[in-house]
Amino acid sequence: MCAALAAVNAEAVPDAPVQPARRLFTGALLAAGASAALPAFAQGIDVGKQSQFSKLVPAEDVEAAATQQYGEMLKQARAQNALGPDNHPQVVRLREIAKRLVPFSDEWNPRARQWKWEVNLIGSKQLNAFCMPGGKIAFYSGILQQLKLNDDEVAQIMGHEIAHALREHARERMGKTAATRIGAGLLSSLLGLGNTGDALLNMGGQLLTLKFSREDESEADLVGMDVAARGGYNPHAGVSLWRKMMAASKGAPPQFLSTHPAGDTRIRDIESNMPRVLPLYERAPKPERRFDPA
Ligand SMILES: [Zn+2]
Repeated sequence: MCAALAAVNAEAVPDAPVQPARRLFTGALLAAGASAALPAFAQGIDVGKQSQFSKLVPAEDVEAAATQQYGEMLKQARAQNALGPDNHPQVVRLREIAKRLVPFSDEWNPRARQWKWEVNLIGSKQLNAFCMPGGKIAFYSGILQQLKLNDDEVAQIMGHEIAHALREHARERMGKTAATRIGAGLLSSLLGLGNTGDALLNMGGQLLTLKFSREDESEADLVGMDVAARGGYNPHAGVSLWRKMMAASKGAPPQFLSTHPAGDTRIRDIESNMPRVLPLYERAPKPERRFDPA
């Protein structure tokens, strides 16, 4: 992903409002006198502000690149007869679960209000799932089938992937790479070059292979749990999910695990944050419809 960044059009300054840290929001609610019954958002996960590095790359450009890359991926899947049709039971299931999680995304990123969310199933033995910037979600059939995921576990993965998109981890990685590779001086000399077409293509190509930092991974775990709990999915599933992942990684490491190391630390972090999200789950309306594993 590194070489491509030299071509990124670094001119535009992101105009998205800076996301307030969750604790500020909570503080405001409490200050407003919500005391007896704590408002829903007074609990949950606090991960603080977003990395300043993300500002080096415009959100619009990252989202446009993702849309293009996602469209390309769907086209290829369709050509190979590997795109789950709208009436496929697992497509219906994934979209129902997404419908319950997406409403809680604006809270984490106001841009999400204008995202055109999409959820698709790709026929592939790989254990993989992702949500690209702008809300483009895909699950590979392999992860549903091999891990025999129940709805709560699917919601944890989906929440985790959505969290990467909401916290703009891809944008942050691109910004970091831009900062280290080309430095501030060269960055400013690129201003005005405006080679946007090539830049978008290059950025889009990176989005499927991005490896996030350990910090981003644990942030995505926590924000994902929060979103899934509000959607009515049991956060304990985060533990069972990663145990399944650990068991699956005993063989040849599947793709998802190469970017998402499963281990005791991860599970311990999830467990230690359980008290913050369980109240959200207990209060949330639960899904009326439950789906069978693939
Ligand atoms: Zn992740």
